[in-house]
Amino acid sequence: MQGPREKQNSKKKKIVGIPRGLIFYHYPELFKTFFEQLGAKVVLSKPSTQKLLRNGLKVSSDEECFSCKVFYGHIIDLKNQVDFLFLPQFHGNHKFLVKCPKFIGLPDVIRAIFTDLPEIIGGYHSRTKKHHHIPHLFWLFFKAGWKITKNPFKILMAIAKARKKHQQFKQKQIWSREKLEAWENKAFSGDGPEKVKVALLGHSYVINDPVLSFNTLKKLREMDVEVVSSEQIPEEIINEQMKKLHSTLYFEEERKIVGTALYFLESGTIDGLLQLIPFPCGPSAISSEIVLHHAKKRPEFPVIQLVVDDNTGEAGFLTRLEAFVMTMKRKKFLKFKKGLSTEQLTLLASKTSEESAVKAQ
Ligand code: SF4
Repeated sequence: MQGPREKQNSKKKKIVGIPRGLIFYHYPELFKTFFEQLGAKVVLSKPSTQKLLRNGLKVSSDEECFSCKVFYGHIIDLKNQVDFLFLPQFHGNHKFLVKCPKFIGLPDVIRAIFTDLPEIIGGYHSRTKKHHHIPHLFWLFFKAGWKITKNPFKILMAIAKARKKHQQFKQKQIWSREKLEAWENKAFSGDGPEKVKVALLGHSYVINDPVLSFNTLKKLREMDVEVVSSEQIPEEIINEQMKKLHSTLYFEEERKIVGTALYFLESGTIDGLLQLIPFPCGPSAISSEIVLHHAKKRPEFPVIQLVVDDNTGEAGFLTRLEAFVMTMKRKKFLKFKKGLSTEQLTLLASKTSEESAVKAQ
């Protein structure tokens, strides 16, 4: 029989920890909603910081990619404050597209590195396996849910609610073709030589992580740059672009990166391409080469590939980013000037000298 202490403990909300890295950025709403609906308390690790990275580095080997090193920091942040650690081994939900081996094997590596982890839940799913269809995925969620509640109805309802939230998230994240075209054609307020549009290419978990991306998104916006990222491009456009390659790209994230680059290199509707490459990363080595190969056919189009790792200096990174933005702005300014009449040019020159005089005061 349970004593009052055990009864109180069993009534206590179970705490599920979700590391804020890698797979989390693909399914942020799905995981969180699922466990919350079951009645668990969900604890997300803190957004990445330099301290979190330093902690991750203490347990990683040199061969690990930058994304995995940061991920270890998230595990350290969570492990002592939760009852369960949610670490799904998710190979992908596509018949032939996959995630990279480091991504898939990470839960096993984490089990081997840390000896004091709470119970890991999540399971293994790969749509490329013969029997891993939707019912298998469903079963994995059911098993994870069973750890929190023994009420099957509640688990089913939680799965349904989480799926709905995930679909809403995806609808918001991925633009429609119409929305993308409207963005490409849009003249932004103050549009002129000083406003440029950029496509940011990279893995979702790099682009959206402040440490992995060196806050690139935020910095670009501060420099008055309009940004669309590879995770926002509609799947139909990516698939169309993939048909132009001579061979098939099997890495899901790299398809988005290459597809986005090919699309904008062809349309020329933006002012430049920026790719973030975590080091060392096998799949990025492939995508960066393909992007570069196609970019060489458009030498006039500004393209920059920035490698990020734990040795990258923030100041050097920022200098390169600023130089890239200035190149695009200058190019746009010259193009803008070329299209002006003599009167417009005289007006622009007087406006510029007035502005310089105000700045000098
Ligand atoms: S794709 Fe690259 S960055 Fe992502 S987990 Fe694999 S090696 Fe690391």
